[in-house]
Amino acid sequence: MATTSPSFPRLPVGASPRFLPTARAESVIDLIGNTPLLEVGKVTRGLLRRGVRIMAKLEGFNPGGSVKDRAARKMLQEGLKSGELTPGKTIIDSTSGNTGIALAMLGAALGYPVELVMAANASRERKRIIQAFGAKVTYSDPLEGSDGAILLCREIVAKNPQRYFKPDQYSNEANPLAHFETTGPEIWRQTNGTVTHLVAGLGTGGTVMGTGRYLKSRNPKIRVIGVEPDDPMHGLEGLKHMGSSIVPPIYHEEELDEKISVSTEDAYEMVYALGQIEGILVGQSSGAALIGALTVARELKEGCVVAIFPDFGERYLSTNLWIGWQSWNRSRLARLIAKCRNESASATT
Ligand code: PMP
Repeated sequence: MATTSPSFPRLPVGASPRFLPTARAESVIDLIGNTPLLEVGKVTRGLLRRGVRIMAKLEGFNPGGSVKDRAARKMLQEGLKSGELTPGKTIIDSTSGNTGIALAMLGAALGYPVELVMAANASRERKRIIQAFGAKVTYSDPLEGSDGAILLCREIVAKNPQRYFKPDQYSNEANPLAHFETTGPEIWRQTNGTVTHLVAGLGTGGTVMGTGRYLKSRNPKIRVIGVEPDDPMHGLEGLKHMGSSIVPPIYHEEELDEKISVSTEDAYEMVYALGQIEGILVGQSSGAALIGALTVARELKEGCVVAIFPDFGERYLSTNLWIGWQSWNRSRLARLIAKCRNESASATT
């Protein structure tokens, strides 16, 4: 794979041009990672003790628009290295959307056809982006969620196993490894090693496992916290309610220090607050991650809590999320904050 040119880091606006690297890459593949870290200071104002900060890792800045670019790149690289992915094969996987976009983008860049199986109720934007990259989409029963897509994908591959390379993000160790090698080191560098907590939503579990492992390898005291929907019938695209789902083989709950359940309603409220108060438009799972981060941070005397914001909000403008965006106003922040205070007791260890 043509990943020879180093990805260029994003430098602050005021950086001296003398130190600016050439902003040029040989392939879109090389633009994955090195995403910025944003201090979330306004939504949290007055809520946290002086020495406590919350930082958001803005994964929407990846070229495919999400955190999943990292895992998809690593899974394809490993497939090429092992000889499982060879010219003539089609890349196939089941995906709730962002992995599909990442695979479709990378398949196009590398010259491999891509077929994706996803629940029919994935957002219209996601479906269209995937098609725009030239990938083929097969829809599974929306009522069966991501598990339905997993099962249908297995059936399709079983009928013609030679034809496909299936990265299988749920059981592929290259998924957490991507985060061990990139997301973790970036956060360590960006916080000058001062990070004390990592908060990330649970989908495949790849982000939280790999990033958490790296950070703990640098400082075993860093606490790693997973965020999941509080209900099997949730509206947090990209996240899994582990208790009622097929648990991904790459996910090892015992490695988490804590797990926090977040309601769809609160996550949406936080997305609206971030839009209007921080000026950043993110997806539902970012709202959930920030609720988790706040829940943890408000108990601390000092610390640096890093929350992963997996994608931006544009790709959800056709979903229910948009309805709230239109009617939300700042006066609702106080109610949301009060709720975070009261409900932090629902955090499970
Ligand atoms: N948020 C969104 C929007 C996602 O698409 C995903 C991936 N399904 C996640 C969070 C969770 O990431 P991971 O699969 O690494 O656990």
